[in-house]
Amino acid sequence: MDGKLVERARRELAGAEPQEILRWALERFQRIALSFSGAEDVVLVDMAVRIRPDVAVFSLDTGRLHPETYRFLERVREHYGIALEVLFPDAAEVEALVRERGLYSFYREGHKACCAVRKVAPLRRRLAGLDAWVTGQRRDQSPTRAAVPVVELDAAFSQPDRPLVKVNPLAEWSSAQVWAYIRAHDVPYNALHARGYVSIGCEPCTRPVLPHQHEREGRWWWEDAREKECGLHAGNLAANG
Ligand code: SF4
Repeated sequence: MDGKLVERARRELAGAEPQEILRWALERFQRIALSFSGAEDVVLVDMAVRIRPDVAVFSLDTGRLHPETYRFLERVREHYGIALEVLFPDAAEVEALVRERGLYSFYREGHKACCAVRKVAPLRRRLAGLDAWVTGQRRDQSPTRAAVPVVELDAAFSQPDRPLVKVNPLAEWSSAQVWAYIRAHDVPYNALHARGYVSIGCEPCTRPVLPHQHEREGRWWWEDAREKECGLHAGNLAANG
């Protein structure tokens, strides 16, 4: 799929519900997988298994997740009967990172080096075999995601000989719509949400937010808001302006 086809897909899918966008993607691409973060993007799993019960779903285990998130991943696996893939970082790379920088280097040096080893490298390996992937990005999540399109060519992970399409079915949904879906369909959710956590990532880099705070204020709170991407989506955001 090239840039022109992506443009056409965007026009066709303008104003479409997430389920329609997912159906379009799952019917169009055979080598496609859904990236599940262990948070409220579980709605995508719920929607996807109704369209394609054997949909490929993966999650990144950075080694630094909350115990609640590990339990939630297993609950989702059992609830939906899916073969949830859990991707791990390269052990030697993690050992080198910790040996050279320590276990909490992100507080001093920013999160990018740690995210590069624990998140981006395993993701890159998984995406190398795909034509498309599905994410739970939403425009209302942060200033850095305000321009997220429903379908895009992945500027960060496409290869010269293999374009990768990124599908963001929830781009136009609000947090309130996501939670209305979770309640209406009795979808399981991460226990941390009941304790004030909204956007959930790694344990050392996530904290609860107050009702008036934006959800991404609970992530990497010691850094500037414009830096709050882990590298999974940063390339696309730069490309989208
Ligand atoms: S979110 Fe924090 S702990 Fe997790 S990979 Fe990034 S810097 Fe490391």
